[in-house]
Amino acid sequence: MVPSGMDSATSFSQSTRAIVFVCAVMMMGVPAPPAQAQQAAPPPSILDRLNAMMGQGKSVWTPQQLDVMAKLRDTALHDPYALDELRHLTGNIGPRLSGSPQAQAAVDYVAAEMRALGAKVTLERAMVPHWVRGVETAELTAWPGMAPGTTQKIVLTALGGSVATPTDGITAEVVVVDDWQQLHALPEGAVKGKILLFNHAFDKELAAGGNGLMAYVGGVIYRGAGPTAGGALGAAAVLVRSVGGADFRLPHTGQTDYSPGVTKVPAAAVTAEDAETLKYLAGQGPVTMHLTLTPQTLADAQSYNVIADWPGTEHPEQVVIVSGHLDSWDLGQGAIDDGAGVVVSMQAIHLLKELGIHPRRTVRCVAWMSEEEGSEGAEQYVKDHGGDAANHIGAIETDLGADHPTGIYYAGKPALGAWLRPVAQVLDAIGAGVLTSSPETGEDISGLTEKGVPSFAPIQDSRFYFNYHHTAADTFDKVDPGHLNENAAVVTVLAYALADSPEPAPR
Ligand SMILES: [Zn+2]
Repeated sequence: MVPSGMDSATSFSQSTRAIVFVCAVMMMGVPAPPAQAQQAAPPPSILDRLNAMMGQGKSVWTPQQLDVMAKLRDTALHDPYALDELRHLTGNIGPRLSGSPQAQAAVDYVAAEMRALGAKVTLERAMVPHWVRGVETAELTAWPGMAPGTTQKIVLTALGGSVATPTDGITAEVVVVDDWQQLHALPEGAVKGKILLFNHAFDKELAAGGNGLMAYVGGVIYRGAGPTAGGALGAAAVLVRSVGGADFRLPHTGQTDYSPGVTKVPAAAVTAEDAETLKYLAGQGPVTMHLTLTPQTLADAQSYNVIADWPGTEHPEQVVIVSGHLDSWDLGQGAIDDGAGVVVSMQAIHLLKELGIHPRRTVRCVAWMSEEEGSEGAEQYVKDHGGDAANHIGAIETDLGADHPTGIYYAGKPALGAWLRPVAQVLDAIGAGVLTSSPETGEDISGLTEKGVPSFAPIQDSRFYFNYHHTAADTFDKVDPGHLNENAAVVTVLAYALADSPEPAPR
């Protein structure tokens, strides 16, 4: 998942404030009314308050439909399909960088698997970037206190979209800043011809407290905009401290975006540990680095979103999207980001098939292409289907890993919260009954959200996600089978609820 730029940072912090507020209210109960009101009516009992929270409004789903949701939930918890599909995607196909042969193999595989279930499968074309990683090495060649004749290895990885250094590399002094303020405080010309490092630390405490995405957004701005800022100041290359919380000297890649008109300079992410070392040494005197990066940006490639429809019985033209992104970074296997999101969406179709359930509306599984490098697949979908937004009844995306879900984020009308309460009650049995309004649900469905389509995402435990995110350690073993199945239960139950309600969700 790649929220980029200031806008998402702002809107996310707003949503986080809203979440904090809602949680505080939930934990404290209803605030005590003023003394006058207390005389008029005694404060409600805990039971009354719980009833108000859980039972408000009438369910639009019949008891039989709620039973179907419970059955989908329980079957999802014990069905191996999602895990088996993830095993194949990550182990047999491997990483699925946009434009790569593996990405194409994944498209063909998911399409075949969905066809085998009897879904109506369409491959929808999208042109996507085709960037290829090359050599990526760095070593210090001079620093205060060095033993004569030695070098020190620096662990880094090129950022997606980065341009290359000459094949024999560059050698330049390193300038370290912690943030934009320190960069702006430097004298004019201070980074010209130098290697500029943004040493902005990932807030591990914030992540440990469950706000992983907020910690990520705080650092990802430097990855996205740092190389452009350095290029504008004449830097020879830009390094950023990895945006993630790992403690195992792992570099985290991710996309960088060069602004038009600014000289593109080579860009890489160093590990948090190496960033600390560079800051320590540069504080003592000049530090010189030899840096070699040889990535290539090839011509854009033709690729596809995989669309698999489980047709509706009454309103086949009305669709509910359940989705994840099929492309991944190349360092690991793309298991948590976002193989997991794809396979829980495939599981929704599989369970409908296995249990013989045919909702009123079409359930559309989408495996999006190229989320990591610019969401070109999702952009193309909005170009192709945006005019039909009215028939998009809802859109779900899972793209924050596979850890335990505690409920559902929803974007749209406030009335969605009360409307979904019976669904939350079904999911409460697996600890996933929280409903939280959020302006953002998923990068690939953000275009549909903007067009007024109600959108949704599982609320996932993000404490550990950013330890592995965009690293070589994003591998199959990081996915807990039980938690993966809980996520499959959430999206399957929600997709069914949206697709089979008598009237479409409020919008
Ligand atoms: Zn992702």
